[in-house]
Amino acid sequence: MNATTTALSSEQLMQLEDKYGAHNYHPLPVVLAKGDGVYVWDVEGKRYYDFLSAYSAVNQGHCHPAIIGAMIEQAQTLTLTSRAFFNDTLGVYEKYVTEYFGFDKVLPMNTGAEAVETAIKLCRKWAYEKKGINENDAKIIVCDGNFHGRTTTIISFSNDPDANKNFGPFTPGFIRIPYDDIEALEKALQTENVAGFLVEPIQGEAGVYVPQEDFLANARALCTKYNTLFIADEVQTGIARTGSLLAVCGNCTCENKCEKQASYAQPDILILGKALSGGVYPVSAVLANDEIMMVIKPGQHGSTFGGNPIAAKVAVAALDVVTNEQLALNARRLGEIFRKEMQRIIDTTDLVVKVRGKGLLNAIIVNDTPDSATAWNLCVQLKENGLLAKPTHGNIIRFAPPLVMNEEQLMECVAIIEKTIRAFKK
Ligand SMILES: *Cc1c(COP(=O)(O)O)cnc(C)c1O
Repeated sequence: MNATTTALSSEQLMQLEDKYGAHNYHPLPVVLAKGDGVYVWDVEGKRYYDFLSAYSAVNQGHCHPAIIGAMIEQAQTLTLTSRAFFNDTLGVYEKYVTEYFGFDKVLPMNTGAEAVETAIKLCRKWAYEKKGINENDAKIIVCDGNFHGRTTTIISFSNDPDANKNFGPFTPGFIRIPYDDIEALEKALQTENVAGFLVEPIQGEAGVYVPQEDFLANARALCTKYNTLFIADEVQTGIARTGSLLAVCGNCTCENKCEKQASYAQPDILILGKALSGGVYPVSAVLANDEIMMVIKPGQHGSTFGGNPIAAKVAVAALDVVTNEQLALNARRLGEIFRKEMQRIIDTTDLVVKVRGKGLLNAIIVNDTPDSATAWNLCVQLKENGLLAKPTHGNIIRFAPPLVMNEEQLMECVAIIEKTIRAFKK
């Protein structure tokens, strides 16, 4: 068999993954071969609306020509120098991205988990060298239901048994509190040796939990009060997904640097990934001001691929798209329509009980237990009807289309969802 020229069927391709790949995912039975904007196509040529956007990595739409163009051009010129030498793209990107998000400095990495690890290391080092905590005593507050990635340290503070069962021993130094609980946060901040509070502004993986309106701003203020770093993991919520450039921007609608309204919860450390590249390349970043970032000295942290020339060019192009196409505003507007339409459907069905979310990061709650197959089966039917989404935590279905969607397309998707729900038999 010639793997490069023989066209394999979806069935054959799924069998290959099953036989030769580790079983660390459980994909919906669809094999994708092409993407363009809000659409993907399977091997047999059937077109679908993508309502997952690769976990919000593809906010700018599949294969955006401006991003792909930047990548191709750079790939033909210079791909990797390592940080042993300077190159002619990194500094330009660093200036662009720090001005874009309003921080002094950026530390470039590749994946979201690496960026979270970087933020943890940065926070600890700051605690010992600036806050005066005794070495090895620093604690970082995290939340129940958190998802920050898959490394050994990150799963050490997860309370999802799938994430950490039989992966111990675990990294110490974390205190877990309930999400969206400002009193619990203040209590934890009053314990000794707290260095930081690491939080998702909206919990995506957990099932799209949106905190109370003032939670982030209050958490920010408390972190200031207790001289503790407020660390926002915006790997999934950032880059226009929730209807503003960052979820910590609150209700600010500016497409670029935040105007710092009252609702703005400026993080001390901002973690980005996923859509920072528009989903074409692994690019992540940690942003902070000098008093924090400068605790890291040469040789103390890094990554061979972090900040490579392709990543630098791709990230600039991806952020340009967000600004030029006003994706935050579009996400906000379409999100409001989407939740209103979902509520209309919910009001007349027993199958779905709730819709929640912000911008175009939304979820519906299926009226069954988390261990039932109802949400999965509903997603299979949605797939049959031309829309791809996946359950999270059993009975929750996340809906997160690319932000380049227009209203007409959104209404077509609403019609698919409505038709599927109405025809669904448990
Ligand atoms: C996806 C995600 C990560 C991890 O990113 P990877 O690129 O998969 O390592 C971290 N934090 C949040 C909030 C995420 O959604």
